[in-house]
Amino acid sequence: MASVRPRALSGIQPTAGSFHLGNYLGAIRQYVALQETHDAFYMVVDLHAITVPQDPAELRANTRLAVAQLLASGLDPDRCTLFVQSHVPEHAQLGWVMNCLTGFGEASRMTQFKDKSAKQGADRATVGLFTYPILQVADILLYQAEAVPVGEDQRQHIELTRDLAERFNTRFGATFTVPAPHIVKEVAKIYDLQDPTSKMSKSASTPKGLVNLLDEPKTTAKKIRSAVTDTGTVISFDPVEKAGISNLLTIYATLTGRSIPELVKEYEGRMYGALKTDLAEIVVDFVTPFRERTQAYLDDPETLDSILAKGAEKARAVAAESLATAYDRIGLLPAKH
Ligand code: ATP
Ligand code: MG
Repeated sequence: MASVRPRALSGIQPTAGSFHLGNYLGAIRQYVALQETHDAFYMVVDLHAITVPQDPAELRANTRLAVAQLLASGLDPDRCTLFVQSHVPEHAQLGWVMNCLTGFGEASRMTQFKDKSAKQGADRATVGLFTYPILQVADILLYQAEAVPVGEDQRQHIELTRDLAERFNTRFGATFTVPAPHIVKEVAKIYDLQDPTSKMSKSASTPKGLVNLLDEPKTTAKKIRSAVTDTGTVISFDPVEKAGISNLLTIYATLTGRSIPELVKEYEGRMYGALKTDLAEIVVDFVTPFRERTQAYLDDPETLDSILAKGAEKARAVAAESLATAYDRIGLLPAKH
């Protein structure tokens, strides 16, 4: 049954202990939806997380936390394949092949590298950070994914994946499915509450601008109530002139399943503070049970491990086949056993 469904694949980094609202609304909600229509593979991309400095014990803990949060978000290991990237060695193996197909200039054009390396200082940025989009290409192509649910910040990397899949297929014969980004426009970029022109980010947001799903609900409510808004008084959706209030309206609409025009009408004649107070309550009502579900998964490490073992086994079966075909097509001599 599963094989007739198109494949979907995505990954999330364990670069922090908690996911944030941008991760959830922009990406994870789509993961949950696609497990109903696709043969979906989702992974915690620990190999990507080491492209920036990490503390080993923290990385291990964050990887478990990431899996627990994905389960708490509604991923069902019976309906999707959930695994940890480093448990499937084929990612690094095909990553090397893709490195050898990518132009240096082409890799240099990736804006995420420019942004992230600028933040770290050019001397501290690693070659791993530079080539991480190419590992991401391998992540996607190994599963012959058609749909890749991501936020807007990943669009350029999916474009690179398409280019490399086509390049490989042209040079060595049809081997890889050319994927398409699955980006839901309305929620593709959730902004930092204190700087509503920058994306909310695990590694780059200011603490007050970042809504972590696992924070104390009280802290979260306070952050929403102190979100930066413009000096006007009219609540309307205008991402250019009213970036802050528009970001809050997007979050409000997505968490409640209501439309933005409906909300704008409801808040007609009311102050920004009223919207913020109501939204704070809505977010608290969402994160409170989310935190409890996450904790329940963390409290049962055996179940978590068995989900990951089963996931890695399923993922490896698919990945190994793609890698073997790719190795053969490019002319690597098969090992005799
Ligand atoms: P980092 O700062 O370490 O890169 P991140 O917050 O960008 O962390 P990732 O793990 O890199 O999170 O991304 C996981 C998924 O969440 C990706 O699909 C990404 O596009 C999406 N995403 C991240 N931030 C946002 C955001 N602010 N709005 C919408 N989607 C987002
Ligand atoms: Mg990111």
